[in-house]
Amino acid sequence: MTRIAIVGVAGRMGRTLVNAVELDPEATLAGGVVEPGSSLAGADIGELAGVGKKGVAAVDSLEALADDVEVLIDFTAPEVTLANLAYCAAHGKRMVIGTTGMSDEQIAELDSYRERVPMVFAPNMSVGVNLTLKLLETAAKALGDEGYDIEVIEAHHRHKVDAPSGTALKMGEVVAASLGRSLNEDGVFERVGQCGPRSDKEIGFATIRAGDIVGEHTVMFATEGERIEITHKASSRMTFAKGAVRAARWVAAQPNGRYDMQDVLGLTVDA
Ligand code: NAD
Repeated sequence: MTRIAIVGVAGRMGRTLVNAVELDPEATLAGGVVEPGSSLAGADIGELAGVGKKGVAAVDSLEALADDVEVLIDFTAPEVTLANLAYCAAHGKRMVIGTTGMSDEQIAELDSYRERVPMVFAPNMSVGVNLTLKLLETAAKALGDEGYDIEVIEAHHRHKVDAPSGTALKMGEVVAASLGRSLNEDGVFERVGQCGPRSDKEIGFATIRAGDIVGEHTVMFATEGERIEITHKASSRMTFAKGAVRAARWVAAQPNGRYDMQDVLGLTVDA
């Protein structure tokens, strides 16, 4: 039985994670953390999530969690997640990190904990998206540099704060790595005005923010006469939450290191 605490338990993903832990026979809800000073501190985390009383009160600092918590699942914000990694390193806890929107410097800081904390860090915890990454690798390798233009299109709800999504970037990275390209050089994140025709190697990104869209990603490989589109559509946050709980159970038995969902699922993808 893996003892899990959810950080950001009052958020969209946090509340869904309470449900997902409840449904997992091999995981137990051992805590929930809300923002420091939040009026929700002390509230029952089951009631916060709308699944009825669970007898676990939300706390507003990691120090107030029960000592026997093994894994923190954190879907919050970059600076919060990094502070929580320092706590995990100091207290021998493990971490599943779903937070997106980290800068290169923040990812480097996260990475510096790989020798001290067993962690799973993935911009998308859904099994379907992680299988899609494998399909993208296969497609990119098969199509190679044979004149297929590659574009990544993503759509999310109106509250999402980072763009393009971490998943869209990961998809772009997988395709770029499969083709010996890099997003730093070949990623095109904005086209406006007289920007001229596209180049052969660029990998373009387009972002939609609207309504309550949970998360949709399409990678298009288009050439003269045909187009291949590989699409994943999430219709419920439960898909991310179930993946995160699966990752928490898995990381509970791993040594220090930075892992991703490919490791959890046993799918190896370049990049
Ligand atoms: P949200 O704004 O609904 O929730 C974030 C929560 O974190 C809020 O409730 C906020 O109060 C809380 N928080 C902020 N600071 C905190 C602190 N110091 N301690 C405890 N809680 C704190 O956002 P969301 O839609 O749940 O998304 C959260 C993050 O997860 C985003 O980065 C999003 O992109 C990412 N996400 C990842 C996946 C994935 O599969 N990896 C899926 C969905 C969302």
